[in-house]
Amino acid sequence: VPKIIGLTGGIGSGKTTVARFIEEFGFPVYYSDDRAKTIVNDNEDVKIKIKDLLGDQAYDENGLYNRKFVAEKVFNNQNLLQKLNEIIHPAVRIDFEEWIKKQTKYLVFKETALLFELKLNKDCYKSLLVTAEDNIRIKRVMDRDDKTYREVQTIMEKQMPEKDKVKLADCIIYNNTNIEDLKESTERVIFNIE
Ligand code: ATP
Repeated sequence: VPKIIGLTGGIGSGKTTVARFIEEFGFPVYYSDDRAKTIVNDNEDVKIKIKDLLGDQAYDENGLYNRKFVAEKVFNNQNLLQKLNEIIHPAVRIDFEEWIKKQTKYLVFKETALLFELKLNKDCYKSLLVTAEDNIRIKRVMDRDDKTYREVQTIMEKQMPEKDKVKLADCIIYNNTNIEDLKESTERVIFNIE
């Protein structure tokens, strides 16, 4: 059975960039958020449950997940959001269990924004946090997503504070400089996991 390293980081930290480097270094990465996006469209059981919870409009005429509608529905409704998560998260967990059965490397990585929030680190051998200063993260997301400073800051404020994540993480990659440094740090960290 491979060891699972939970890979996480707040918005704009660089966790996806690190995940790509990890793949380049030959280790498999499970992208939880991407898989969740596929699962809400492909898993019939999940689809039925979401429609029961939020209404048929949660899916458009082509049967595709209506992200905008769902986001508006659960926005400022903690109860509905929690119920939605209770549908999606177990499905992702099962999907991950199926994925890991097919893996042959001694280490695999699970990228998830909510590693600590959902206590998924409990099921991991180690946790790996990618972090950078707030200002740097905000600027990177502004460039990437064409969002304003304030918009990114609002998202950031809703996430677990960086100082709490730093306390919980087993390994940390500081991503305050450039991409070359980030790749080197990634290599150093992943080949020193023991
Ligand atoms: P999110 O949670 O918002 O998806 P993320 O943690 O996955 O973010 P990335 O998408 O990897 O973060 O990085 C955010 C943006 O910053 C990307 O456009 C990426 O190319 C860029 N970036 C990441 N690290 C660096 C760096 N060291 N130097 C310059 N740009 C960087």
